[in-house]
Amino acid sequence: MPEKEIALVIQGAPISPGLAEGIIHVHHSPLDPIDVPGHIEQTNVEEEIWHLDAATLRISDDLITLAAKVEREIDSRLAQVFTAHQLILLDSSLKEELKKEIAGNLVSASSAVKTVFLRWEKRFLLMESQIARDKGDDIRDVAIRLRNALAGITVHPLDEIPHGCVLVTSRLLPSDTVFLAGRSTAAVLLEYGSAGSHAALFSREMGLPCISRLHNLMTTVPDGALALVDAYKGTVTIRPHEKQKVIFRKRAEDKEHSYNLARERALNPAVTKDGVAISVLANVGCSDDTENAMLNGAEGVGLYRMERVYLGRVVPPSIDELLNEMRQTLSAAKGRTVCVRLLDIGADKPLPFMRFLAETNPSLGRRGIRLLCEYPELLKTHLRAVLELAREFDVHVLVPMVTLPDDVSVVKEYLTQLGSEMQLSSLPKLGAMIETPAAALSAREIAKHVDFLSFGTNDLAQYTFAADRENAAVEQYFNDSADAIFRLLRITHDDVPDVPLSICGELAGRPAHIPKLLQCGIRTFSIVPPLIPIIKEVIRNSLVTAPLTRNQ
Ligand code: PEP
Ligand code: MG
Repeated sequence: MPEKEIALVIQGAPISPGLAEGIIHVHHSPLDPIDVPGHIEQTNVEEEIWHLDAATLRISDDLITLAAKVEREIDSRLAQVFTAHQLILLDSSLKEELKKEIAGNLVSASSAVKTVFLRWEKRFLLMESQIARDKGDDIRDVAIRLRNALAGITVHPLDEIPHGCVLVTSRLLPSDTVFLAGRSTAAVLLEYGSAGSHAALFSREMGLPCISRLHNLMTTVPDGALALVDAYKGTVTIRPHEKQKVIFRKRAEDKEHSYNLARERALNPAVTKDGVAISVLANVGCSDDTENAMLNGAEGVGLYRMERVYLGRVVPPSIDELLNEMRQTLSAAKGRTVCVRLLDIGADKPLPFMRFLAETNPSLGRRGIRLLCEYPELLKTHLRAVLELAREFDVHVLVPMVTLPDDVSVVKEYLTQLGSEMQLSSLPKLGAMIETPAAALSAREIAKHVDFLSFGTNDLAQYTFAADRENAAVEQYFNDSADAIFRLLRITHDDVPDVPLSICGELAGRPAHIPKLLQCGIRTFSIVPPLIPIIKEVIRNSLVTAPLTRNQ
């Protein structure tokens, strides 16, 4: 390219870090995958409804298989998405509305799907609750799936994308992310998608660089051009000059070199420059996570999210089922500390075997321990299984969504009572998640009932800034590394200087903030498995006693 042609640099929000280079492939994801005749005769109504039922059944089966495959091969939280898709698909009021649309307006099943799902998507996007905003993408995903099934299309729309390309698309739906798992895509650029979205979750776990909030991306970016993607800074350089390419490639080489070095040293302990040993543990949800974490040098499990064991079940799991699931997930960490978080479910993530009363603001309603206290039998079964596990593993128990000291004292009472019934010689250590400002500011009272505190900075940021962590529209308010968050951490440490402090929110995996977290008294970090080698390396280069600057 002649040097005088100007390279285009666009700026977005980085949602999964990394550097990548590749040819841009613009992918349009229409909700109208095929041309279907919209109108039908009265005599065809039954036939169209039959087609709709048949397609629904087929997809429902596919979704179960897909959820199992995703859980096995990719990520258990992503698998939950497909279980939720199945619930949407089988929703009786949606079915009714589709049938009415076919019979009332004399349209084909495919046209009815398009009209009704777009109506539902709009309804969800206009609603205030977290579940509603999340559901926009899910509804669209199910609609595309259903329309493709009605048209007999079996290939995924992303089937055509070239290997090694930089994929440009307006947003990444859950099923797109699953499809991308088997590809060698270099990077993904999006118009929409927040740091808490499925796309973000997936791309971080796959180590796939991803930038979002690139406005007007679909109309400004040329298909087939070379792009340099810097998903640390959130910049994309399109049609770069020779000089820009050379500098970028050198940076990419250096990054790769330091990652390889970190990986080689991953099994060594993380000791700061001033000699303080720091524990680096893993956040896990399935057995693959635990296995990867151990290979990457995790010293144990700092957060086992076990919601998936409960989701999508028509009857609650028994003690044995829970125990088997936990044993399997944690087996690679046997002999090390494993921190099991009690079920963190809320009114926005309904359990099929429970009847929830609708809440106007589910994130501020019955979540985590609040819900467990309302269903003591559920809590007791859960604790009995955890106590059984403690006979074989070094178990710690973590209480989610703590706001009041009573939230933890009640768990302690149950543990003591059940432990004596089960004739255990000792009880697991108990910890409180500090993920509400009230908990951070009441650490002295809470600490009387627990052995350690663990900062859940994802929710701590959500509740401090009153900004839904999943909602891209208020993303500018959600800042988990803001001064306000560090002040809460520091106040907690000052109030309970002798209580062990850990962190298991996303903030723990961001190298730039490690020194500050160490200075806030945090001595245990729990992070996603791929980040463990790098975070250990950053700790080795940090000081616990470094003087604070004025702004800190
Ligand atoms: C957190 O809130 O920071 C946390 C670790 O819990 P989760 O992300 O599962 O809510
Ligand atoms: Mg949380």
